[in-house]
Amino acid sequence: MPQILNKPKQSFSQMLEDLRSMSDLKWGLYAFEQDVVWKSKLTKVEKQHIINEAIICGYNWAEHVKKTHGDHTVTELADRYHLKVESDASGQMTNRIAYAIYTPPRTITLMTEPIAKVRQLLNAYSLFSTTHLPDIILAHELFHHIESNEKDIYTQAKQVTLWRFLFYKHRSQIRATSEIAAMSFSKQMNGLDFSPFVLDFLLIYAYNPLRAGEMYQQLIQ
Ligand SMILES: [Zn+2]
Repeated sequence: MPQILNKPKQSFSQMLEDLRSMSDLKWGLYAFEQDVVWKSKLTKVEKQHIINEAIICGYNWAEHVKKTHGDHTVTELADRYHLKVESDASGQMTNRIAYAIYTPPRTITLMTEPIAKVRQLLNAYSLFSTTHLPDIILAHELFHHIESNEKDIYTQAKQVTLWRFLFYKHRSQIRATSEIAAMSFSKQMNGLDFSPFVLDFLLIYAYNPLRAGEMYQQLIQ
């Protein structure tokens, strides 16, 4: 009998359960896979070192923010940082789906369509509370705001030589570093026991379950 190809082999709850227990290091390697510039230019050992540093950076900044501002929800903190949080209900403008966009100097745009789709998906299962969803997303973007104002922060200061020509060296930041630190920051700010990178999987699943199934297969290898 031909296999039906529009659905992944594993159930949604099984995949989510497996991904929730995946290590931050493994999610970090996933983030590098999304980094078109760097994924093939660094060794696995170099990537692991950078991932660990980025995780520590996000964690330490979350602790620093909590100590400086006290006990606040992420929404309240966004206000304390004078961030303008806007909603965009226009659906997806580009072919890259995202939950939110940070636009310097102080605007965070939450995309209501993907957030609603993921919330709907999660409401059918009790594995994951949806009430935290906006705060997880907002904390990630708050980190991008913080790093854009801190030139010495690891995610901004860490540069690697991309190419050399005679006496000229071109050094560049690594996009994945920012993403890993932002996820680590959000994890710590929201007291989560899983990596917020799980939200990437949920987002893909909400739009394309088959592609999410492929992503899952690659991740659990
Ligand atoms: Zn980000």
